[in-house]
Amino acid sequence: MSASERSGGASVGPDAWEYDVLAAAESGGYGLKGIAFEIFHGEGLVDAFAIPHARFKSLLARIELLYSVENPYHCALHAADVLSASHCLRKALPDVFSAVETLALYLAALGHDAGHFRLNNAFLKNSKHTLAKKYPESVLENFHLGLVFELLEDPDVGIVPFLPATDLARFRALLSALILATDMSKHMGLFKELQRWVGENDGARDGDGDDDDDSRAGAPYDTLNDAIEASDAANDLLRVPHKNGHGGGDIPQISGARDGSNENDHEPWVRPALERASEKDRLVVMQLLLKCADLANVVRPLEIADAWGKRIMEEFYQQGEKELSLGLPLTTFPNRRNFDYVFARHQLGFLVNVVRPLFEVFTRLTSFDAREAVLASAAENGDAWTRRESQNQPGRKEAAGRPSTAPTAISKSPSSSSSTSTSRGAFGALARQNTITMMRAFKQSNLTMLTANAMEMTGLDVALDEVRSTHWSPYDRVRVVNADP
Ligand SMILES: [Zn+2]
Repeated sequence: MSASERSGGASVGPDAWEYDVLAAAESGGYGLKGIAFEIFHGEGLVDAFAIPHARFKSLLARIELLYSVENPYHCALHAADVLSASHCLRKALPDVFSAVETLALYLAALGHDAGHFRLNNAFLKNSKHTLAKKYPESVLENFHLGLVFELLEDPDVGIVPFLPATDLARFRALLSALILATDMSKHMGLFKELQRWVGENDGARDGDGDDDDDSRAGAPYDTLNDAIEASDAANDLLRVPHKNGHGGGDIPQISGARDGSNENDHEPWVRPALERASEKDRLVVMQLLLKCADLANVVRPLEIADAWGKRIMEEFYQQGEKELSLGLPLTTFPNRRNFDYVFARHQLGFLVNVVRPLFEVFTRLTSFDAREAVLASAAENGDAWTRRESQNQPGRKEAAGRPSTAPTAISKSPSSSSSTSTSRGAFGALARQNTITMMRAFKQSNLTMLTANAMEMTGLDVALDEVRSTHWSPYDRVRVVNADP
């Protein structure tokens, strides 16, 4: 499939959930600099701080250079994608953030993986890397943050001199807190913070006749299983709030860019809650917004999710091979066997256990259109990966006499057997029901190494029955530690 046939890239702007930075880059050479300048300038952020355009473009060029072109996933286009998703999500919230807050958010999105070299925090700690000695906590995130600050203070391209002295301390604090929040070992703590805030504020409007069971949506989950259970029980997919105030019904087909209007398009408690939120709580919302943007590719339209998923798998494989060759603890996939099955299961596990619960809570704050677009993609992608997992189970493939796919390089044109163009249009109750069925099945099964690895959570011990049975790993148990999205 050619770049021009890929959905989104040329037809919608970077504030649309369907925007495809990979297609935009392939079809028009449109990379980080172009996408970022369009967003920053379009939002008036360059002129608001009277930053000369040439200087700002030079800053963007220098940020782009911090990303290795050898990284399949953690490349400059990932930074552009996270900025695009941050922009899309911020525009979907009520317009309550100040210029300095937005500037910090967007620069954090652009710089949050600066200098990444295709190894995760677990590898750096296990190999006693010099960065792990320098930063005992959030090794890579502190490293990324240092690089970004260096550039922002650079005498030639830095923008710090243009920020009002009264904003400087807040800008620095925001940028630090935002980039450090992308450490996935902090995920559950931040997720619970957002749930707490939503629960407190959503609950404040009760007694107004609303019949939603807000306690379920807002209560913090003690365990991941609780999160899945609550999500299942709340059956949120079947009661996505609509503009007319009624839950349920068919989710409309998503088409192209949204119209940009987000006034009077949210649950009524959201704007006042954001406006009266403390600085700390506003930061929590911004941190979770950036975390959503960092994981957005999993719930972008299927073709985009597929392309990014294959890229992160390639980085996992490269690291797994290094771990095996160096005799380090194995924290990710050691080989490419049964790729189609492993890939589908990985994507599904990450979607069901981490990404969808996060977006379900965060999109309570966004416009109804944005919530529908994201949850529709989540359901569609969940269905597609469930099908692929089933179709590509190792036993099935061998019985059918088909060789396992073992890619040695990322595919720029995903070989998905699912059709994005048809499945998006055909989205409806059946697709949603399949996702709920899939979630139930997942809840009942043991977490596998694949899912746990994708979750990148600290301290999770996982039984590896499935891994042992297909000879993926020589280890009986793997202590799953951090990896970075
Ligand atoms: Zn990232």
